[in-house]
Amino acid sequence: MPKTYSIAIDGPAGAGKSTIARRLAAELGYYYVDTGAIYRTVAYFLDLLGISPKDIDGVSRYIDELTVEIEYDEDGKQHMIMNGMDVTEDIRTQEISQKASLVSAHAIVRDMLLDMQRDVAKRHNVVMDGRDIGSVVLPKATVKIFLTADAEVRAKRRCDELIAKGQKANFEQVLKQIQQRDYQDTHREVAPLKMCRDSVKLDTSELDIDGVLAAMKTIIAEKIPL
Ligand code: C5P
Repeated sequence: MPKTYSIAIDGPAGAGKSTIARRLAAELGYYYVDTGAIYRTVAYFLDLLGISPKDIDGVSRYIDELTVEIEYDEDGKQHMIMNGMDVTEDIRTQEISQKASLVSAHAIVRDMLLDMQRDVAKRHNVVMDGRDIGSVVLPKATVKIFLTADAEVRAKRRCDELIAKGQKANFEQVLKQIQQRDYQDTHREVAPLKMCRDSVKLDTSELDIDGVLAAMKTIIAEKIPL
């Protein structure tokens, strides 16, 4: 099998990972793998069953009844398929964000999802974003970037995103949720969000999307011929 390139982008919620990763993948002709969507799908499944994401007994009991698949449409957009149903849009709510953060702390959930993430990277060149891509999922990724920004900047971006989608956004509330997710994601025992020693840190607080993309390409060009 020919060698594939993988670009791992980790960082806290709202750092701009998905926007940047999607653009980058489109420009490079790589697959974009949004791993947060996978955890969101698990959270959504449990939510439909009325199981609390903190209830490890409930999660363990029902997790085997879930199949998660990633599919790509002709535009390269990632779709999440939950037991045969496309839930791509259903998983993008604030409530599911919080629940995904809680459910992703369970080892049983993370273990179940590991192979499917690695499998895509084995078969295709990928830009993969998440929290543990460089540390756990693809420890040998060609390039590892840790994308971050001040919590206030991230909250403002999330609010703008929600408003653009026609949803309601309260800055203080979004900021609190982001800080809560930061805490949960960095303090969990299994695969916590942290910067790897071989990651390059990029703070996007003062940059617009084009600025981030340019900075990323400079980092990537050191490892991959662009
Ligand atoms: O990136 P996104 O906000 O969609 O992720 C939702 C949640 O899924 C995160 O708060 C995090 O707890 C979890 N997640 C994770 N590992 C990943 C990607 C996401 O634990 N690789």
